[in-house]
Amino acid sequence: MRILAAVLAATTCLIGVANAANVFPIDRATILAGSAFDFKVEFAGVVKAEDVSITINGEPAAKILGKDVAFIAKEEGVDASAVLLRAAKVIKPGLYTVEVKAGNDTKTVHWDVYGTPDTPKAKNIIFFLGDGMSVAHRTGARLLSKGMTEGKADGRLAMDDLDHMAFIGTSSTNAIATDSANTMSAHMTGHKTAVNALGVYADRTKDPLDDPRVENVTEALARTGRKSVGIVTTAEVEDATPAAVVAHTRLRDRKAEIVEMMFALKPEVVLGGGSAYFLPKSTPGSKRKDDQDFIKAFTEAGYSLATDAGALQAVGQANAGKILGLFHTGNMDSVLDRKFLKKGTVNKFPDQPGLVDMTKVALAQLAKNPDGFFLMVEGATIDKMSHPMDWDRALYDTIEFDQALRVAMDFAKEHPDTLVVATPDHTHGVSIIGTIDDDKPGEDMREKVGVYAAAGFPNYTDADGDGYPDKVDVSRRLAVFANNFPDYYETWQPKMNGPFDPAIKNEKGEYVANAAYKDAPGAVLRIGNIPRSTDTAVHAVDDGILQASGPGSEAFKGYLEESDVYRVLVEAFALAPAQK
Ligand SMILES: [Zn+2]
Repeated sequence: MRILAAVLAATTCLIGVANAANVFPIDRATILAGSAFDFKVEFAGVVKAEDVSITINGEPAAKILGKDVAFIAKEEGVDASAVLLRAAKVIKPGLYTVEVKAGNDTKTVHWDVYGTPDTPKAKNIIFFLGDGMSVAHRTGARLLSKGMTEGKADGRLAMDDLDHMAFIGTSSTNAIATDSANTMSAHMTGHKTAVNALGVYADRTKDPLDDPRVENVTEALARTGRKSVGIVTTAEVEDATPAAVVAHTRLRDRKAEIVEMMFALKPEVVLGGGSAYFLPKSTPGSKRKDDQDFIKAFTEAGYSLATDAGALQAVGQANAGKILGLFHTGNMDSVLDRKFLKKGTVNKFPDQPGLVDMTKVALAQLAKNPDGFFLMVEGATIDKMSHPMDWDRALYDTIEFDQALRVAMDFAKEHPDTLVVATPDHTHGVSIIGTIDDDKPGEDMREKVGVYAAAGFPNYTDADGDGYPDKVDVSRRLAVFANNFPDYYETWQPKMNGPFDPAIKNEKGEYVANAAYKDAPGAVLRIGNIPRSTDTAVHAVDDGILQASGPGSEAFKGYLEESDVYRVLVEAFALAPAQK
């Protein structure tokens, strides 16, 4: 796979860069043989149909793509012509050279169409996505959950025992930086794309729902067999990461439409928050702009509905079939709030299930399918709490993510035909640098930051053995800091009254430090180092670290592009065996 990529890179022609057509799938795209994708050419200007020539490996495009392309004389809102073919497919694996010509407007791109082994290595795949999970989250979760004595960890996280590992390049097609849409889309389709895009290449027309599509894992499984699909998240189920399992849109914010796309594909299990986009606009709290009732639609389609942890257990035990669990109108609360502090929105949603319980119910349901399943579990709050630099909440959620992963690894022990993957989509700019010790003399909190030998060890305890510190606001805590931040007041303390809200908008529309934290003892103003239009810390470009165990996992090694992860998944499932 990597040798092929190098060959492709070396033969890529850089012709007519300034004024050339765009071709989707883009140059060096990797495409699962037989998968459906939209083929689109965007010419730089208006061209005549009779001047257009498109060949693939020297043959007319239609011969390779299975259908004739349609010529669009002038695209809507654009003073230029295009060619479009929906649901094209290339059956035969190999290297393909696509040559597009219309007068002076020429472009050549190369595709790597790959097949898979004939026989599957894995029956099930459990894909754990720690949103924004960086090295500091793992180290911090281990220190908080297990402790450390004389420099050695007093225990191991579940993810510490996964067998194989790869560095993952998370960049998008239009920037080195990235968001949770295009990154998870790369994991779930095998195609990189632009920031904010899901299951499509981002084209130049305005409509965010017409962009050239690529097949996602749910569609690939529906096309090739009878495996079940499950989606579990602590975010809204139509948020970017879970959406990438089912959706096609240039804009991740199109959440109402994403619910429609989810309904069209009907994954067997859908658990998380986000009920506001399921409710018709007449229902209080709805975020839909139409009268469609997707709670009704899903239940009429045979789903059992659960809206709190108790109901989820009951539905799970009732053996009822497909499950829709919506436990919050928006994103679910962090485990620090749900289990310990009862802040955030826990008073409004007091009985939200945790990621461990949701994973157990999903696995029990999906495992009933004799043909196997694909389950995606997202620890969304790791990212949601890293943005506002609420490191305690982010680390507690990393522990919860790891405990849910333990459930999956135990399942895999009983079912060795299961591939387990744990990976971030992207990282955050965060590091642990030592401890903060309240017992050091003086008022100046900065002087209480212990670095090098002065850091010593934090004094969290876990007397009840639940894997979480008994108390988050101990006297010697982890010192965790972001390397990028808006203006904010550093309080040096866990946020006991609810998630941190570091910056708020001023009358000029710029984000400034939230004065609500100004009077915390020892609080100091930190002047930001990112644009004033940004309200929270941002994603890092640093590689993510993927780990995996089980059949097929040995393919995860060295450095992989995020789009290459999909190839390992579909190879494990043998989704494109040789045509006989
Ligand atoms: Zn994020």
